[in-house]
Amino acid sequence: MTPPTTEELLAFLEEQLSAERMAEIEQALRSDVDLQQRLAGVVRQHDPGAHSVGAIWRRRRLSCPSRSDLGSFLLGALEPIRTEYIEFHLRVIGCRYCAANLSDLEQEAGDQAEEVTRRRQKFFQSSAGHLANDEE
Ligand SMILES: [Zn+2]
Repeated sequence: MTPPTTEELLAFLEEQLSAERMAEIEQALRSDVDLQQRLAGVVRQHDPGAHSVGAIWRRRRLSCPSRSDLGSFLLGALEPIRTEYIEFHLRVIGCRYCAANLSDLEQEAGDQAEEVTRRRQKFFQSSAGHLANDEE
């Protein structure tokens, strides 16, 4: 990919680039130490309180996937590139906000599974009851 200019890195931080370019830069940041340092430099210049890309990322929840994306991620229903990005976001960036969101969704999915089981049991119980009542 074309290395991002300083202006682009700034736009990246402000999330003002196209989704494709955002993804490209995020992908590159994963392995490109130079780019990480450049971004950290841009961050420091414009936000002197931040000392690392990780810190700014966590603070600004940069490019957090949406809750519905996280839901699809759980179901394994995302395109590979989105899945890869969310894994990167959770494991490498260590976004606590998304991790909390994800465990919340997992909990919800678990509750739903229980609800389905309960409804199924109720259905069978009531049809058994219905059969018993037929004799009346
Ligand atoms: Zn996040």
